[in-house]
Amino acid sequence: MKSVIKCNCGQRVLAKDVMQTGYYLRLFGPNFVYVKFRCSHCKKLGEQFVKQEEWEDGILTESPGEMTAEEHRKFKSMDKINIHECIDAHFELEKISSLAELREAVEKSTN
Ligand SMILES: [Zn+2]
Repeated sequence: MKSVIKCNCGQRVLAKDVMQTGYYLRLFGPNFVYVKFRCSHCKKLGEQFVKQEEWEDGILTESPGEMTAEEHRKFKSMDKINIHECIDAHFELEKISSLAELREAVEKSTN
């Protein structure tokens, strides 16, 4: 499993939330990477030690394909798609006969 840093509230910590990082070197046992952050969700300060061997590229970045925090919030605030919306979408798609119309329909639905 890919390691991630999370705030106590469950929000993932990303590079933009990080205020300070450092190494915590020990003579014996694993070394740690120290991360101080301000959570983008609850705005609380937090800190975490991550074992150096668990620290990997991408630990502070979202992998492509993942939703942004903003998208996540947007979708979370929306209701579930109901059957009527499915049927509407189906009929809307049936009406479309050209690429230009499809483009227009997409633009309308995203604005
Ligand atoms: Zn938080």
